Amino acid sequence: MSKTIKIIPLGGAGEIGKNMTVIEYGENMLVIDSGIMFPENDMLGIDYIIPDFNYLRENRSRVRGVVITHGHEDHTGAINHLMEDIDAPVYATGLTCGLLEVKLNRAGLADKVKLVTINAGDSVQIGPFGVELFHVCHSIPDAVGLGITTPAGLIVHSGDYKFDHTPVDNWPTDFGKLAEFGSRGVLALLADSTNADEPGWTPSEAVIDPAFDRVFEEAKGRILVGSFASLISRMQQVAHAAERHGRQLAFVGRSMVDNARMARKLGYLDVPDELIVDINQALKMRPSKVVLMCTGTQGEPYSILGRLSQGTNRQFDIQKGDTVVLSSTPIPGNEELVHRTINRLFQRGANVIYDAIAPVHVSGHASQEEMKLLLQVVRPEHLIPIHGELRHLMQHSVLAQEIGLPKHNIAVVENGTIVSFNEGEMAIEGRIPGGYIFVDGSVVGDVGPRVLREREALARDGVAIIHLMLDCDEGNLLEEPDIITRGFVFTEDAGDLLSDARSLIREIVSQPFDGTLERRVEEELSKFFYTQTRRRPMIFVFASRSN
Ligand SMILES: [Zn+2]
Ligand SMILES: [Zn+2]
Repeated sequence: MSKTIKIIPLGGAGEIGKNMTVIEYGENMLVIDSGIMFPENDMLGIDYIIPDFNYLRENRSRVRGVVITHGHEDHTGAINHLMEDIDAPVYATGLTCGLLEVKLNRAGLADKVKLVTINAGDSVQIGPFGVELFHVCHSIPDAVGLGITTPAGLIVHSGDYKFDHTPVDNWPTDFGKLAEFGSRGVLALLADSTNADEPGWTPSEAVIDPAFDRVFEEAKGRILVGSFASLISRMQQVAHAAERHGRQLAFVGRSMVDNARMARKLGYLDVPDELIVDINQALKMRPSKVVLMCTGTQGEPYSILGRLSQGTNRQFDIQKGDTVVLSSTPIPGNEELVHRTINRLFQRGANVIYDAIAPVHVSGHASQEEMKLLLQVVRPEHLIPIHGELRHLMQHSVLAQEIGLPKHNIAVVENGTIVSFNEGEMAIEGRIPGGYIFVDGSVVGDVGPRVLREREALARDGVAIIHLMLDCDEGNLLEEPDIITRGFVFTEDAGDLLSDARSLIREIVSQPFDGTLERRVEEELSKFFYTQTRRRPMIFVFASRSN
């Protein structure tokens, strides 16, 4: 058998989100992570995006296992979509398995998928891949990186990591294991590039505690902390702060409640029963005695904070004197939405504290000096930067070159690129599709770029509907053409425009033409509206024919 190994990033290479990497040896494949990505502002109506895993679907009999490095959505969110097509066990640590179970349950896949819990420090043989899990610090407990021994050499996958010496759970990154990999000899390192343009070190999670203390001391009314439902370590810090300041804590929203319950049950979240109250109870308590923890720090309109900012939350509203803490930074692309949410919360009378004002959030990812340290300790022959936009991957490559890794030993590649190693030599072997699959409500993959372009056109220029009543025999108009517009022109001011349009339609109907009348009216009106208004509304023409 040849000793060629292939590494194919299917997500997260060239973007922040939907992480997924495939490692292929002979007839065997190992999948690492299965995440989602949040849509950008111009992707109207799209809930989230998943990797294109058609390659895995086509080769399903060769997939030996799926390993998930930690419980964040950009690593776990697409697990239900993946496991509909793949029949292989899923391996993860305790907390990650718990979070995956919540997702698989909701998708009705819990019985079908074999979830295997393995701990950091343990190893498992998956086909020809000997996988060792090592602990890394990140913004969720029980995160791991992977050492993967293959017949072609050792591959190290960093997972999402930072080198925090004072993490919330007192469990630092496993430097010893990284050094051991280094001494064994590492063929390739795949490493997190998120903060490749941040100089220095990422601050420890410990800096958040004093910031929260100040917020809790100054707040007179209720405190609402917005965070990701998967940011378990932030839940822990908020719980500790509540305890220190004599408040009780309520988790709000299904994913928050489910994840908190799971993390407490498995021992990753240490919150005494007396500290927790149910949301209904919390709403009846004195405002100065409660903290509510909810989702929506990215401005998502249907999250709790999103609804609160718009006054559309069912159970309760923002009240004067509330303090809202946004404990996260906007994911690139979400800034505008987040700032709008912050403004609306202020408008409703809340005091809003976000990371530009106080250090209520620190990154869970390594900065430049930590990235260099990882490279120095692991001493890989090759580097494949992952988990970043192209600019982050490029910057990661520059950092690696600064500490002596030759440029031709670094593969800056985007999703779908096949990186192969043959007898230790790295080569790029072409590309498979690595694009976006849009998930819109429960519809997967049916919404393509064309539908998005239509939505954009509708949002930008609106719609015009034209109804024609025609004589069946002669094709003459029996009534004045009816024109209804929405989002295009304000009809009362558009009298002239619409009566000119009606004249144009009468003229078209009275003249001979090729093709269908509807099509011709649509084309001519589109031109007419554009010359008059510089807009291109979507035009629908219906003709009824009668005697
Ligand atoms: Zn993460
Ligand atoms: Zn991530």
